[in-house]
Amino acid sequence: MSHIVLQASPSTKQKMKAYYQKNLSAKAVPYTDFIAKKQDVTITAYTSGKVLFQGASAEKEAQIWQNDTVQSIKNSSLKSNPKLPENLRFLSVLGSDEVGNGSYFGPLCVCAAYVKKEQLALLQEMGVRDSKELTDPQILQLAKKLKQLIPYQLLVVSPKKYNAIQPTYNAVRMKVALHNQAIGLLLQKIAPEKPDTLLIDQFTPETNYQKYVKLEQNPVKEKIYFVTKGEKYHLAVAAASIISRASFLEELAAASTELGITLPSGAGSKSDQTAAEILKKGGLELLGEYAKLHFANTQKAQKLL
Ligand code: MN
Repeated sequence: MSHIVLQASPSTKQKMKAYYQKNLSAKAVPYTDFIAKKQDVTITAYTSGKVLFQGASAEKEAQIWQNDTVQSIKNSSLKSNPKLPENLRFLSVLGSDEVGNGSYFGPLCVCAAYVKKEQLALLQEMGVRDSKELTDPQILQLAKKLKQLIPYQLLVVSPKKYNAIQPTYNAVRMKVALHNQAIGLLLQKIAPEKPDTLLIDQFTPETNYQKYVKLEQNPVKEKIYFVTKGEKYHLAVAAASIISRASFLEELAAASTELGITLPSGAGSKSDQTAAEILKKGGLELLGEYAKLHFANTQKAQKLL
């Protein structure tokens, strides 16, 4: 049985109650404003503003209220951009982003996430936004919830694998390959449904992306938009960014436990010192299990020794 949750303003809830007048249940239930029962769907409006649609026709019924819930997104801080489709932030979008590219220790995590327009208000209500505005515990908690709510495809490249690929795939080509793969797999997962738009948090000029994606076995054929700070334009990119950052944090924590040394994120002097410590313990071979060796940090650490 499918279910959909919308976030409704008090005025939308009143409108709903009037609309479902003939279907209202007489039973008073705590924390609810009203419950309406139609043939294939039950509508429960909570005092919190959440409205739950349950049953075979849940999706169809929720669609009636789509424009009203879009209203609540309009008041959000999301931006628009003339080079992107008009009203992008209100559309069903497949977005992708990556994390770990700039960190010496830890994996490279790429995630594609699909957010339908009916879910935008709910995600906004949950606090999904630019992951740079969120604390690590918030990110971990949000990622857990998002993974249950939306279709996504996460790809994690361990430092060891990264070091093996890196001589043939430069960092940009590797990211292109991973975004392309994550998007392609997610499109397969959600098929036959298709997103209104695809959006990548831009990490390289579009011409570069097109150049490298042609070298892939299965380049995604759909039109893709690119924009920097993508999480400011659609919650799908924000969701992808949260899921990939959570994965990065978890992997880095697990690696620290395994090694018995706390691995810092980033690529600063702390990373050099930690790398020197690992070199002392097990040489370049051990370091290559945890760090992206082509970073300048490797040489700095060798000098420190
Ligand atoms: Mn990004």
